[in-house]
Order: sequence, then structure tokens, then C-alpha cells
Amino acid sequence: MHRVVCPGSFDPVTNGHLDIITRASGLYDEVVVAVLINVTKQSLFTVDERVEMLTEVTARCGNVRIDRFHGLLVDFCAANGITAVIKGLRAVTDFEYEMQMAQMNYRMAKVETLFMTTNPLYSFLSSSLVKEITRYGGDVSGLVPDPVLARLRARLAEE
Ligand code: ADP
Repeated sequence: MHRVVCPGSFDPVTNGHLDIITRASGLYDEVVVAVLINVTKQSLFTVDERVEMLTEVTARCGNVRIDRFHGLLVDFCAANGITAVIKGLRAVTDFEYEMQMAQMNYRMAKVETLFMTTNPLYSFLSSSLVKEITRYGGDVSGLVPDPVLARLRARLAEE
């Protein structure tokens, strides 16, 4: 049984995240998508809302489970029988930080990190950019799943 984790903020989930999650679900027995609970970082959506959106958009993948964690990712891995972390790499700008994290996680707990190169359709895509564009009236359809688009517009209209 190979169980892996895709960790992140997912504030909100984008089609770039979904692409990595779906491809990982084709390679491993179970993919746990773990939403990081970070009380110091301001987010647009609550952790519950992010979990809800992820649950909805991954519903067709039978082997994907959504969870949440705080503290060290390696502790979450140990508690859930997870031996590897799957990360998406968009560009070299992601690489330096991701390599440091990967090496530290291996050093701490022998947890492996596997990198998947992003689908070139989404290599420029990030949750923060999606929020910024929507905030100023830009159109991000095709870059986030439809239910996420609706919630994004509704939330930002409240501001
Ligand atoms: P961000 O890094 O944009 O703040 P997250 O923390 O939610 O977003 O990202 C979680 C993981 O998803 C990271 O490993 C990140 O590299 C990956 N990821 C984010 N956006 C994309 C994308 N467009 N294509 C591939 N992977 C992505």
C-alpha cells in the first residue's frame, strides 16, 4: 500500500493543484491532500472551506482523501502511514525552497519527496495570483474549477 501526501495551503485549490493530485492518484494507492493550518498566515478561505472545495473537486478520484494538519509535515506522515510527499514544480523559482524542505524532511524522518513537473498549461498559476486577478475583476475561468470560481467571486464581492 503506497500512500502519499500532497500538502499545501490550497487557498483556494487551482487547476494546477488538481492536475498534480489527479496524476498522483493514478500512480499511488492513496493520495492524502493535506491542508496546512497556519494561524499566522491570513487566508481568503477558512480551512473548512478549503477542505470542502477540495472534497468537491476531487470527488471523482476514488483514492483521494482530504485532511488537514498543523505542525510538522513529517509528524503528519508518521501518524498516517505516509512515506512520501508529492510536490508540483512550476519553475526554477520553486526549486530552491522545495529542495531545502525535501532535504530537511528526509533528514528529520526519512520521508521522501517526489517532484512532478507542472502541466505547462498551469506553470504560471498560483492561488495568490488567482485571488489578485479576481479581486480586480479579471477572469480566471479555466484556471480554477467552476465551483471554486463561483466561491471566489462571491467571497471577493463581499470585500
Ligand atoms: P502556493 O505554493 O501557490 O502557495 P500551495 O501551498 O497551496 O500553493 O501549493 C501546494 C503545492 O502545490 C506546492 O507543492 C506547489 O508547488 C504546488 N502547486 C501550486 N500551484 C501549482 C501549479 N500551478 N502547478 C503545479 N503545482 C502547483
